[in-house]
Formats: sequence, C-alpha cells, structure tokens
Amino acid sequence: MRKLLFKSLFFRPLTEAAPSPDDAGLSELAAAVGRAARRRLGRSLSIREVDAGSCNGCELEIHALNNAYYDVERFGLRFVASPRHADVLMVTGPVTKNMREALERTYRATPDPKWVVAIGDCAKDGGCFAGSYAVVGGVGDVVPVDLHIPGCPPTPTAMLKGLLALLEQVDKAAVSP
Ligand code: SF4
Repeated sequence: MRKLLFKSLFFRPLTEAAPSPDDAGLSELAAAVGRAARRRLGRSLSIREVDAGSCNGCELEIHALNNAYYDVERFGLRFVASPRHADVLMVTGPVTKNMREALERTYRATPDPKWVVAIGDCAKDGGCFAGSYAVVGGVGDVVPVDLHIPGCPPTPTAMLKGLLALLEQVDKAAVSP
C-alpha cells in the first residue's frame, strides 16, 4: 500500500484526460444527427443496442453517449428497451453461437424501415475472436448490415459521425428517383 501511495506521487493516472467541456463541434454533430432523423422519420431516432457477444468495451463507449458529457438524448437520440420501438439496431461484438438466434429474432422484431449498424472491429468479421469455436462471425454473417463503424472500441464521436452518414445516405436514397 505504501509503495502504491509513493508511486502515485510521481506518476500520472493511467486514465485519459477528460474531454474539453466546451467542445462545440460535438454538440453540433449530435444536433445534426437529431435533425437528420427528424427530416427522415419526422421524429426522434430510436436505437436498440444488441450485444451479440462483445467484450463489453464497445458497450462502455455506447453507454457514454448517454452520460452527462455526450447526453445525446437532448438531441432526440433515444436508446429504447425493445426492438419493436427501434429504428436502428446497434450491434456489438462477434456474433457468438449462443447469441445468433437472439440477434435474428431481434432483427425480425424490429419494424421496417430499420437499419443495422455494426459497432467495432469484432462486429465486422469477428475481430480478435474470429475463428473461436464459440463464434459464428461478424454481424453481417447473420443479419444485413447497413453501416460498419470500425474501432476497438470506436469512440462515441465516431458513432455519431456514423449515424449521421447513415441518415444522410438514407435521405439521399429517398430523394433520388
Ligand atoms: S471491437 Fe474491441 S472493444 Fe469492441 S467487442 Fe471487439 S474487442 Fe471488445
């Protein structure tokens, strides 16, 4: 204990520095996602998160979207408890054999129009868990994926940028003949 206290006097903590509280770009980004959702859906965007077998690192970053700093609900992005209320499924992790059916059922329970966003490197192709006896593969091996957001784990900002790109792409597709 004494050694630990002594060490803490000379070394900085291993945590990352807190983001700047006056990050206007972030608020603008989240507001742009909210506006794009209202333009496309006429209301807030509802997101259902599905952990298909992740290490929970991606979940920590997804949870951060709702913390006091990001607080995306103020821009009309809501996490919902049921896929029946969702527009977007955010799926993390490699899909494990045990979660395959749950993911398929969640996808079927989500009303159209719906979009699937695969979050993190594992969701693309299994990542560092690829080849495991317990893993089916990436999310795209089980349900159709509209967007993949890379990273291990991706940051909340990367997720917001991905959602904005997805909604803008959907918007364009709806306008073009
Ligand atoms: S991408 Fe990284 S953080 Fe996300 S589930 Fe895979 S190993 Fe964990």
